[in-house]
Amino acid sequence: MPHDPVAIARDLLMCPSVTPAEGGALAFLEGLLEPAGFVVERPVFSEAGTPDVENLFAGIGAGNRHLVFAGHADVVPPGRLDLWTHGPFAGDIADGRLYGRGAVDMKGGVAAFAAAALDFVEETGGDFGGRISLLITGDEEGPSINGTVKLLDWAAQRGERFSHAIVGEPTNPAALGDMVKVGRRGSLSGFIKLRGVQGHVAYPHLADNPLRVAPAVIAALMDPPFDAGTERFQPSNLEVTSVETGNRATNVVPAEVEIAFNIRFNDLWTVEALHQEIAARVGRAVQSAPLRTGRPAPLAYELAFEPTNAVAFLTHDATLIDGLSDAVEAVTGRRPELSTTGGTSDARFIKNYCPVVEFGLVGETMHKIDENVVLDDLHRLKAIYRAFLDRYFAG
Ligand SMILES: [Zn+2]
Repeated sequence: MPHDPVAIARDLLMCPSVTPAEGGALAFLEGLLEPAGFVVERPVFSEAGTPDVENLFAGIGAGNRHLVFAGHADVVPPGRLDLWTHGPFAGDIADGRLYGRGAVDMKGGVAAFAAAALDFVEETGGDFGGRISLLITGDEEGPSINGTVKLLDWAAQRGERFSHAIVGEPTNPAALGDMVKVGRRGSLSGFIKLRGVQGHVAYPHLADNPLRVAPAVIAALMDPPFDAGTERFQPSNLEVTSVETGNRATNVVPAEVEIAFNIRFNDLWTVEALHQEIAARVGRAVQSAPLRTGRPAPLAYELAFEPTNAVAFLTHDATLIDGLSDAVEAVTGRRPELSTTGGTSDARFIKNYCPVVEFGLVGETMHKIDENVVLDDLHRLKAIYRAFLDRYFAG
């Protein structure tokens, strides 16, 4: 009997696994995978100041080719329950859709690859000349500290060597088959504090208003563009996200301004090179900013960057990219666009172990009220993963 991705997705959706709660989701997967011969483990990872998180690693088979399906069983909170037409954990099916928090992000994706892997293993009698693993974290939507990073390290220490990975996050903007993600931009945040001298607005010569310098700094951060993009990447883009003085009094010159920013950057940049470029832009802007009343010297400032574990990466592996594109085309009749758009994902950690791409459901309703997945999409996504498995272990 083939495994039904709709039934699996529905059972998963009925587990209230809002990060960091396991909610029964991993226990359900264990009960599904273990009878089929997968060796299932559920390591719990801890770190001071963060909640403990349960994860799941399931593996079957042996051989040189080791394919990992990666994903998460945790979901974002449902928000106001009264706004949902179908309960976020009710598992309602209506109008050809399955409703619930996590339907597309990404319990539906997990259900599709679990069903595909189970069918494949059963039909080959477990003798397919390689190894398949499912790497499921419970901490993707949260701080991402006790999840994929530690699970990868844990698996590596146990001798697991991955050849290729597919992350089942929702990657398609409008229709199944639209888009495979072959990389991700990096993300870097920072803060600039411009330090002036507080004072009475009626005595500006006794004060030093940092807001006179802020516009030049903001402009220099965002222009000119950092680059023009590449074949696979959008141009790197910096957005100033906040300008704060903490001052609400109109008769006071504020002592300082804090400017916050984030840049999403492509693989033309390392974090180190961005630090240097941004520091140079800020330095020049402060030097050339208009003089403040009675203050000929450049304004004092501080520039600080938040640590980042999100660097830009691009996967080139043809086995993975062509194989998955062929599978998508075989099932949907469409050749997917290869893209690096969107936010960060756990693929940024997996890429340190093996080539990784992402392909899953249509993301339209993710994180929204009445999140839902078209039932036929679940069946077709399972068929795509299955078509990939057939090609992958045949070749
Ligand atoms: Zn997700």
